Amino acid sequence: MEIAKVGIVGAGQMGNGIAHVFALAGYDVLLNDISEDSLKKALALIDRNMERQVTREKITAEEKAAAFGRIKTTLVLTDIAKTDLVIEAATERETVKAAIFEDLVPHLLPHTILTSNTSSISITRLATRTDRPEKFMGFHFMNPVPIMQLVELIRGIATDEPTYNACLEVVERLGKTAARAEDFPAFIVNRILMPMINEAVYVLYEGVGSVRSIDESLKLGANHPMGPLELADFIGLDTCLAIMNVLHDGLADTKYRPCPLLTKYVEAGWLGRKTGRGFYDYRGEVPVPTR
Ligand code: NAD
Repeated sequence: MEIAKVGIVGAGQMGNGIAHVFALAGYDVLLNDISEDSLKKALALIDRNMERQVTREKITAEEKAAAFGRIKTTLVLTDIAKTDLVIEAATERETVKAAIFEDLVPHLLPHTILTSNTSSISITRLATRTDRPEKFMGFHFMNPVPIMQLVELIRGIATDEPTYNACLEVVERLGKTAARAEDFPAFIVNRILMPMINEAVYVLYEGVGSVRSIDESLKLGANHPMGPLELADFIGLDTCLAIMNVLHDGLADTKYRPCPLLTKYVEAGWLGRKTGRGFYDYRGEVPVPTR
């Protein structure tokens, strides 16, 4: 099946990056958000990020202009129903996502594939809110989308093979690499990454190491490009906690219990880079450990 037109719901951190890579790969993109401000910010950010690629000679000015021209925005959700592929990248709340799919269903084309960029919500459960569970999948990009190579393709229990293959072809045309994952809590990357981050917080909580010694140890001792606490601040501590809760509830195993210190940071509103403070304080010239 030919996919030419892509609808993206949610123009936040992830939605703008997804629009960026699809437009550069030659797809027509229709980007929707409930907030006009989010749409304006997304276009400004895409413009800036593409300009950086021009400066670094990764793309030409003509390619940028053509790609940017392929992105249209709309505040009306149902405008995106008449596309070949929908990628939902709205706020990580199941009620929000379920309502989006339910509103779209009566307006879709018969062949439209529906996908969600959720980090943790069950694809199988979201699919039941639509008229086409066999044409429903998880399309999980990593942050920042234009830079990260991986896309997890998550099959719900009802997803059929032609739908999976159509999405796989899209990932290849984006120049990215797909990992095939089944629909279990947090899929592959976060299932492995989050318990490691959570364990790093336990190591801090128990006083085995300081913020700096934990991050240095993993960078120099395991060749990780970022330390686990630095990475947690980048992802957002609220997101890390939410994913640990999904693992804990979904797999019913105490080995996934979130570290009380992680909960404490989230309660304090110290969510990492996005709020200026997490395991590091970002308000000065250089990040300073908070413990
Ligand atoms: P974000 O908060 O930056 O953006 C969410 C956007 O959705 C906002 O612009 C908001 O206005 C919009 N929105 C909310 N309700 C809407 C609705 N009903 N219709 C249309 N738009 C609506 O969040 P984000 O970080 O971009 O995350 C989006 C999704 O991507 C989530 O499911 C998240 O789990 C997933 N994700 C996030 C990351 C990450 O590192 N941030 C990585 C992979 C996947």
